[in-house]
Amino acid sequence: MAEKQKKPQNVFNFDYSREVQERPPQEYYDNIKEKFADERDLRLGYRPPGTDSYTSELTGDLAKYAVDPYGTEIPERELLNDSVEVLFIGGGFSALLTSARLREKGVESIRIVERGADVGGTWYWNRYPGVACDVVAYDYLPLLDETGYVPSRHYAGGEEIYQYCKQIAERFDLYNLAVFGTTVTSTVWDQATETWLVGTDRGDSIRAQFVVCANGTLAKPKLAKIDGVQRFSGHSFHTSRWDYEYTGPQLEHLNDKRVGIIGTGASAVQAIPELGKAAKELFVFQRTPSSIDVRDDWETDLDWAATLEPGWQAQRRARAIEGPQLPDAIKARRAAMSREEKIQRQENANIDAMMRIHTRIDEVVEDRETAESLKPWYMLMCKRPCFHNEYLPTFNRPNVTLVDTKGAGITEITEAGPVFDGTQYEVDVLIYATGFEVQQTGIYNQIVGEDGLDLNEKYLDGIRTLVGIHSQGYPNLFIMGGYQAFFAFNLTDVLNSQGEHIAECIDFTRRNEIHSLDCTIDAEEWWVQEVISHRGKTSRNKDCTPGYYNFEGAENRRQDGNYNGTMKQYLGHMSHIRDNMSDHFVFTQR
Ligand code: NDP
Repeated sequence: MAEKQKKPQNVFNFDYSREVQERPPQEYYDNIKEKFADERDLRLGYRPPGTDSYTSELTGDLAKYAVDPYGTEIPERELLNDSVEVLFIGGGFSALLTSARLREKGVESIRIVERGADVGGTWYWNRYPGVACDVVAYDYLPLLDETGYVPSRHYAGGEEIYQYCKQIAERFDLYNLAVFGTTVTSTVWDQATETWLVGTDRGDSIRAQFVVCANGTLAKPKLAKIDGVQRFSGHSFHTSRWDYEYTGPQLEHLNDKRVGIIGTGASAVQAIPELGKAAKELFVFQRTPSSIDVRDDWETDLDWAATLEPGWQAQRRARAIEGPQLPDAIKARRAAMSREEKIQRQENANIDAMMRIHTRIDEVVEDRETAESLKPWYMLMCKRPCFHNEYLPTFNRPNVTLVDTKGAGITEITEAGPVFDGTQYEVDVLIYATGFEVQQTGIYNQIVGEDGLDLNEKYLDGIRTLVGIHSQGYPNLFIMGGYQAFFAFNLTDVLNSQGEHIAECIDFTRRNEIHSLDCTIDAEEWWVQEVISHRGKTSRNKDCTPGYYNFEGAENRRQDGNYNGTMKQYLGHMSHIRDNMSDHFVFTQR
C-alpha cells in the first residue's frame, strides 16, 4: 500500500513512442476516427450554435434554480462603508490560497465577499450525493504543508474538502472581515483616490486598494434551453443546489419517487449511483456519454502519512511540474519522429484508451443496447474524463432506465416530465445536471476600470490580459482562474501559482511604496500573441464532440481561450515578470 501511495496514476500520459506489438492496422484507427467525426457532426447538427444552447440567466421563473438551499441562516448585519487593503470577490480556493500567501507577507486587511453562507466555493455549492474530487487529494487539497493536514483518502469526498476549506479560513484568520450571503454587483475604479469602489447586493460600499476576482471557473449554474422547463409541475433543482429537504439527507424520501436526471457529465456520474440506490425509478436522460474509467481509490495509509517530511506537498508538486524523466532512448525516438507521425501515434494511443473503456462497459453492463448507448465516441479528454466503480453497474438495476437521446438531448418537458421520441417520461422530480458557465471569472461583476470602460466591453474585441491575471486599464485588479491562463486538470495547481504571483505583486508594491500597478499595453500585447501562438496547433479542438472544453463546438477567437503552453512555461513567464516588474507595469507612488 505504501508503495502504491507514492505512485499516483497518470492516465493521460500516453507513451506514444512505445513500440506496441500487434497493434491493429492504421485502417482500424481511421475508421474509429471517422465514427468520432460522425458522432460530433450529429451533435453539432442538433444544437443551436455554441453556448446558445444553455442559459445561466437564472432570473424570473428560473430564479429558483440559483437559490442557495444551504445558507438559510445568514444573519442580518450593518451595511459596510469602509476600506480594506485586499478584497476578494468569492471565497473558494482562489481566495483561500491567495489570502494564505498574503498573510505570509504580512497583509492583515483582507476581506472575502462571498455569495454563499461560508467559504468553499465549488465545495460549498456542490453537495450532491456522491460528490468527490477526481484529482488525487494529496495534490488537489492545497496548503497541506502549511496546515499539516493529510487527506483521509486518495480521492477526497466533497464534505471533507468543504471542511478543509473552512479549516484554511480559520487557520489564516479569514473569517474576521469576511461577509457572506453577499454578491458583488459593481467594482469601479476611482481615479481620484486610486482605489476600487465595490458595491454589493446588500447595499455595501467598500473601498479596496486591491481587488482579486476569485469568483470561480465553473461557478454559475446553467440550464439547457429546453422548451417547457417552467411548465413542469413536479419538483426540480440543479445539482449544485441539491434540495436535501425534498430528497431527505440519505435520499430516503426518494424511495417512492420517480426521479429524472438530465445530463451525464462529471456531476451526474457521481450522483446517479446514489440516486439509483434510493429512487423507486430513475430515468437518466443522456445526450452524450462520459468516459468512465476505474476509480483507484483507497484510504490513506497512516504509516505512509507518518513518513511525510515537511514540504512533502511542495516537492510532489515540483516533481509533477517537471514531468516524467524520460530515458534517453525514448527521447531519441521521439526526436526522430515527424510531427505527423507523433500526432498519429498520440491519436492511436488515445483511441486504444477509449476502446479499453468500451470493453469495460461490455464487461459490466448486462443489457446490450444500454451498453452500446453508454459508449463514448470521441477522443479521451474531449470531455472531462470520469472515474467511477458504481456508475456502470447502476444501469443493471431494474429500477434504472437510460434514455439515450443519441445526441439530440431532451428538447421538450411537459407538466409530467421530459418527452423524447414521442415517449412521455413521467417523473416526480427532475434534476438538472447541466453544468456551469465556464471561466467567466472577472467578468460578471461589472468591473469598470480607468476611463469608465467595463471589462466586458474591453473583451468584446477579444480577451486581453497579461498571464490571464492582469488587464491594462484595471490597476490593482487581479483575475484568477480565467482565460489566457494555463488550465490544468488539477485546478488548484494553477490557482496556487496565481495566488503566489498575486501575493508577490502586492508585496512588491508594499516594499517599494507603490500605490498602484497596471500592466503596460506592450506587456499585454506580448501575452495576447503568446496565447495565440500556442493555440490551434492541431485540429483537436475542432475534431472533438461539443462540450464546454471546446466552447460547445463554436468557432472562437484564438486569444479567447486558455494558454496552451506548458505549466512550466506558464510559471516561467510569471516568474520572469516578477523579476522584471518595471518592464511590465507602470506604477504610481504613494
Ligand atoms: P457538464 O457541463 O460537464 O455536463 C453537462 C451535461 O448536461 C452534459 O452531459 C450534457 O450533454 C448534458 N446536457 C445538456 N443539455 C442537455 C439536454 N438538453 N438533454 C440531455 N442532456 C443535456 O457539467 P457537470 O456539472 O457534470 O460538470 C462540470 C465540471 O465540473 C466537470 O467537467 C468538472 O470539471 C467539474 N466536476 C468534477 C468532478 C470530479 O472531480 N469528479 C465532479 C463533478 C464536476 P453533452 O455532453 O451532450 O453536452
